[in-house]
Formats: sequence, C-alpha cells, structure tokens
Amino acid sequence: MARFKRILLKLSGESLQGEQGYGIDVNRLNDYARQIKEVHDMGVQIGIVIGGGNIFRGLKGAGEGMDRVKGDQMGMLATVINSLALSSALSTAGCPNRVLTAIRMEPIGEFFTKWKAIDAMENGEVAIFSCGTGSPYFTTDTGSSLRGIEIEADVMLKGTRVDGVYTADPEKDPTATKFEEITFDEIYNRNLKVMDLTATTMCKTNHLPIYVFNMDVYGNLKKVMEGQNIGTLVHE
Ligand code: UDP
Repeated sequence: MARFKRILLKLSGESLQGEQGYGIDVNRLNDYARQIKEVHDMGVQIGIVIGGGNIFRGLKGAGEGMDRVKGDQMGMLATVINSLALSSALSTAGCPNRVLTAIRMEPIGEFFTKWKAIDAMENGEVAIFSCGTGSPYFTTDTGSSLRGIEIEADVMLKGTRVDGVYTADPEKDPTATKFEEITFDEIYNRNLKVMDLTATTMCKTNHLPIYVFNMDVYGNLKKVMEGQNIGTLVHE
C-alpha cells in the first residue's frame, strides 16, 4: 500500500540539468521517468510540476536589464520545454501521461482545469502541469502549492538534491543537522529556505503538507511512497 493516494510532485528544472550545468540531461530525465513509473505502478495518482531554472529564470533576465514580465514569461515557456521532455520520457517508460498548461497553447498541451487534471489522474494518466501559475512574479514552487491544493493532493513531494530540511544549508555548514519533521511555524521562525514564502504560506493555510527528499538518488521516490523516512515532513 502506498503512503499517499494522490501526490503533487515538484521537480526543479535545475536538477534536470544533471552534471551538464544547462539544459536537459537525458540520463537524469529517464531516471526521473522510471522512478515516476514505479510509483504509478503502485496505483498512486500523480500530478507533476516541473521548474524551468535549467533554461531560464525571469529574475536573472531582469538583473541583466530585461523586462521582468517578459523574462518570467520566458521562464514559464522553459517549464513547458521541460514538461514536454518529461512527458516524452514517461511515454517511453510506458507511463501514460498528459500535459496541461496554465497558458493556452494547444496543441502543445491542454488548458488546465482542476477537473481535467483529476479526470486524467483517475484514468491512470500522470498529469504534468506546465507554466507554473501562468502569471509572472511567481515561482514553480508556488505553482506546485497551487496545483497541489487544487487537485486535492494528500501531500506535495518536493524532490531536491538534498535529503531533507536542515538547521542550515548542509552544502555550506557541515554541522547542520536534519529534521525528520518540522512545523510550518518553525520554518518561519528559523527562517529556513524550504520554498519561497508565498509557496510555503499557500501550503500552510490550505493544509497541504510537504515532504522534502532527494529525488536524485534512484529509487527514493518509491521509498517515500512505501513509508520509509528518508526525508523531512513539513506539517501544521
Ligand atoms: N515563472 C513564473 N510564474 C510561475 C512559475 C514560474 O513567472 O508561476 C517563471 C519565473 O521566471 C521562474 C521561471 O519561470 O524563474 C522558472 O521557474 P523556477 O525558477 O521556479 O524553476 P526551478 O527553480 O524550479 O527550476
């Protein structure tokens, strides 16, 4: 039995670049697709939001003199590229799926509605939500909390390259220790960077717990769904 019935999985665009430093590492992409297929085979309903930081971030563009809204639109289009890549890899792995977009762009994907997404998942398709929220000045973390709440997911699984939430950044501070679980209030009080504040607040006020884990170790997604405590649960 899987620990959760319906999940919203957030994958960062940056992880998709693997060791390359830019774009899409096909090995990493296929590795993600196979992990998702394993969990799909357990009967879990899966919605996915994928970032675009491996291709473009609006804030970086704005820092270089670009119009912020146009830059964010470029970032949202980057999430579409990643979503199509993931869709293709999932199909190759034998996992039915559908891309839904927050900005109209048929035939690339269908325009998102909550009901289309739920129908797809109940019919055994993985639903991939692209373009984040569809609006500038947001992140795909906020897109994930929004979609997770809308599709009535039991949890948001935030797949990162770190295996949970630490007292400090473990890549910078070797004395940092990991939490098995932590409350939203403690995240605020300790000023921990799990997600941006908008995304965290959306989850807290709408009662969507977050599970942070390392998706870059093959098999970890399945371990989370089997109930193994390999990450950090953020709850009320
Ligand atoms: N973005 C946006 N609105 C959204 C989601 C994303 O404008 O609702 C843009 C924003 O420019 C962001 C980029 O898309 O920098 C890529 O998303 P993000 O930085 O969240 O990707 P990740 O860090 O997960 O790779």
